[in-house]
Amino acid sequence: MATTVQKYEKVGFLLDMDGVIYKGKDLIEGSAAFLKKLRQLEIPYLFLTNNSQRTRRDMALRLNRLGIPAAPKDIFTCGISTARFLAEKKPNATAYVIGENGLGSALHENGISVVDDDADFVVIGEGRTMNFENIEKAVRLVYNGASLIATNLDTTCPTDQGIRPGCGAIVAMIEAATGKKAFSLGKPSPVMMRMARKTLGLRTDETIMVGDTMYTDVLGAVEMGYRSALVLSGHTTENDVAHYAYRPDIIAPCLNDLPESFFLKPLSGQTAEPALPEMANAS
Ligand SMILES: [Mg+2]
Repeated sequence: MATTVQKYEKVGFLLDMDGVIYKGKDLIEGSAAFLKKLRQLEIPYLFLTNNSQRTRRDMALRLNRLGIPAAPKDIFTCGISTARFLAEKKPNATAYVIGENGLGSALHENGISVVDDDADFVVIGEGRTMNFENIEKAVRLVYNGASLIATNLDTTCPTDQGIRPGCGAIVAMIEAATGKKAFSLGKPSPVMMRMARKTLGLRTDETIMVGDTMYTDVLGAVEMGYRSALVLSGHTTENDVAHYAYRPDIIAPCLNDLPESFFLKPLSGQTAEPALPEMANAS
């Protein structure tokens, strides 16, 4: 069945994962239905995560097991934005890495060699396998001139048992020891936000970011001029929003509660008919 999406202004979604699509091991109710609706409407979307631990293939498999169809190309991690940025700045660069498989393979795919000494960059990602020896090594390399790169500056990571220290907490330790500031390429970095938009072939005013975190998802969108939606299915409450100088364009309980009027704007001269038959019966 041909959709009537041509009657609407072009739009596409950047979707945070944890707190938007799933929470821990559980799918958030309605997220699968919302994504199905986007596919039926031929609205492009890309999953955008500040977790560099897993590869795109692993994350796509995780989504598939939760009942969400996804291919590796549908996923964009801060490990990928970091690797692409470094490869552009210095082809054939070397990096000392604190992180896991997802970051290592993104660096290799972009022609960056992972080394133990003499590194151009010290790259910090998510992970639970690092030890104090790794931190010492990173500190010495940065002190001696390697550039300190963070895949993100999130200070905590949600787990089923509560929070654990995030990439930003590890980075803070190295910054304190060396007196050098890290450069971050995870949300809200404009580098990652722009690469993700370009992956979908969207213009700034066609891009909508949906997330559950004010200081990454919403801030990144606000700074780039994208539309933004905060969902309350993660770790942010409506009361938290007042603590920030910026606001999302819309706040919704969860992804599937985003009203179609937020993302389907009729082209001039077109009437606002329901885009899909089931929408006519909705609400
Ligand atoms: Mg999130």
